Amino acid sequence: MTEAPSIGALWRGWRDVLSRLGFASASLDAKLLTGHALGLSALELATRENEPADGAAAELVAKLLQRRMTGESVARIIGEREFYGLAFGLNGATLEPRPDTELLVDLALGALPAGGRLLDLGTGTGCIPIAILANQPDAHAVAVDLSGLALEAARANAERHGVAGRIEFLEGSWFEPLATSPSGRGEESMGLFDLIVSNPPYITSAVVETLAPEVKDFDPRLALDGGPDGLAPYRIIAAQAANWLKPGGWVLVEIGFDQGAAVSAVFLEAGFDDVAIHTDLNGLDRVVAAHHI
Ligand code: GLN
Repeated sequence: MTEAPSIGALWRGWRDVLSRLGFASASLDAKLLTGHALGLSALELATRENEPADGAAAELVAKLLQRRMTGESVARIIGEREFYGLAFGLNGATLEPRPDTELLVDLALGALPAGGRLLDLGTGTGCIPIAILANQPDAHAVAVDLSGLALEAARANAERHGVAGRIEFLEGSWFEPLATSPSGRGEESMGLFDLIVSNPPYITSAVVETLAPEVKDFDPRLALDGGPDGLAPYRIIAAQAANWLKPGGWVLVEIGFDQGAAVSAVFLEAGFDDVAIHTDLNGLDRVVAAHHI
């Protein structure tokens, strides 16, 4: 009988496999997936290096690492990803929350008045409104998604972070469920918002095919594809946002790094006259803000 490998030898072995395959994050990926399979935190993994890993555990580690080798991301394999300091559960209908989107949350927290109401269109995991509500204790949100499955993840995330009582989830396309929600509320009684946010699908259909396997093969297309020129969702949002905003309200939308001018033009053409582009920490255009005067 061969002796069981130590926990340290186990993750290092997989690190070497990933590294030979050219994974830039081989070491981190191997540690995270080994820790997840064994139910150990990063600290425990480090302090229990020399303990033997039992055979069943080693097999589970192998299964997770094999998924990583097909290009699936560590976050998808683990089933959650951190965003704005909170962990968000994922499923097959949601994008992974990205650090790029934290700028949108920063700006939203600055734009939302105390006790304000916000609307998030295409909520996915719910990461945007949940991060906002978690940091603004008396704010309320309505979050819309076309995918009922995505909304299941979002509801669970809202519960997990203690904001479920302040957020309402509606299934449907963009603004449509606001006017036809199951409770029969029309535009009047649904009320107006101080802020509309969205990180819509904004990648042009042709470019989606060329993305890294992690994205192309595992992220839901619906959450990525912004139509032939990547601007379709912005046109819908810009055309209808004013109907749902209080005077002085804001729209904040995440954009692709090369869409600043085009998305600004969409909002200017729709009648917003105070439109600004915000750059992220890398100096790239990332958010367009439009003010409803
Ligand atoms: N709003 C979600 C996020 O930022 C989903 C975005 C999307 O699916 N395009 O992650």
